[in-house]
Amino acid sequence: MRVWSVAVLAISSLAPLAPPQPSPLVVHVGHLWDGAKLVDEVNVTIDGDTITRVDAGAKAPRGAIDLPRYTAIPGLIDLHTHITYYWDRKPGTRPLGQPRRRPAVTVFLAQENARKTLETGVTTIRDLGASADTDYAMRDLVAMGAMIGPRMFVAGQGISAGRGWTPNPPALAKQAEDRVNAGSDWVKVYASRGSFDSVDTTQTLTFDELKAIVEAAHALNHKVAIHSYGASGVRDAVLAGADSVEHGIDVDDDTFAEMVKRGTVWVPTIDHNRYYVDAKDEYGFKDEAIPPLQDYIAKNLESTTRAFKAGVKLGMGSDAVYTMFGQNTRELEWFVKAGMTPAQALATATTIPAELLDRKDRLGRIAPGFAADLVAIDGRPLQNIHDVIGGVRWVMKDGKVVVTK
Ligand SMILES: [Zn+2]
Repeated sequence: MRVWSVAVLAISSLAPLAPPQPSPLVVHVGHLWDGAKLVDEVNVTIDGDTITRVDAGAKAPRGAIDLPRYTAIPGLIDLHTHITYYWDRKPGTRPLGQPRRRPAVTVFLAQENARKTLETGVTTIRDLGASADTDYAMRDLVAMGAMIGPRMFVAGQGISAGRGWTPNPPALAKQAEDRVNAGSDWVKVYASRGSFDSVDTTQTLTFDELKAIVEAAHALNHKVAIHSYGASGVRDAVLAGADSVEHGIDVDDDTFAEMVKRGTVWVPTIDHNRYYVDAKDEYGFKDEAIPPLQDYIAKNLESTTRAFKAGVKLGMGSDAVYTMFGQNTRELEWFVKAGMTPAQALATATTIPAELLDRKDRLGRIAPGFAADLVAIDGRPLQNIHDVIGGVRWVMKDGKVVVTK
């Protein structure tokens, strides 16, 4: 695998990220899933960062990037990351409780998370929680072309109730406005406990508080993602008007019906607890933490299966932190377990999140006018979702090749 050297780029500010490519450029692939249908022998013509033509049944023209063995799919979208959570694996340390770093150092080091994310075929992320403005910095550097990474929609610091908090809707509305004014694309809210080895479902913000946050953010034309490990918080988040709800178990059918009616996207993040079980030694989690994590996974999958049957829009979110980058798309396997076809699972990482991000005319499809984000897969992604998870061989983002293996 080769990724354009990040270290060299970092010292040559604003240098082009890759050798210049002819414009317009043609990429030829043996097969292509455009976000809706599968076609064969396809030329994708790209001008700058945008797709201008898609021609099926075509031969590769001279000078094309020719990938005849592969199937191209749109650049994928991970709706839930924490890309600035970085661990250098220094002996004697763990991901949690590392010595403090200056924010600029964190931003620099987190380029590794960005690279590993691109290698999974994810070219867009919604990053739901960071400290010290590090996510704003990464988003802006990537957008400038000074850092290689997925395009980022970010939330800054999440809004939460500390221990001993007394309900105060106006104060939380003000916090939502402050986040937007500071540079957040999205407002992230923690409506319950639960994270890492804790699956505590206790709700921490009231319905009235959630409603105040949502109304304040929506008044400024920004959307809201609400974290809730438990069912009551999911219900209150939906009724308060959240645009997406993150995590959740034991969600009742009435809440799913309400989500269908409102178009709320549910991002269940089933796979992140699988990751915590697998990475328990890195984190130093106690053995007693594992059965509750496994119980949460089973309940998370059970609710996801019912949500899919009910017609709830589901989104792929990894909730990746630290060493989970590079595993961003493993959530798709759970979605297939929940009853989806591979194409339906791919929609959770393409068209559904593109619409949630208000980019349905730019992201999530391979078509004229869309961003030139292409992922070449070795295998049959529409037949076997594992080929998406393990078969990424080449990635283009905004018309530039960012991964070749
Ligand atoms: Zn998260």
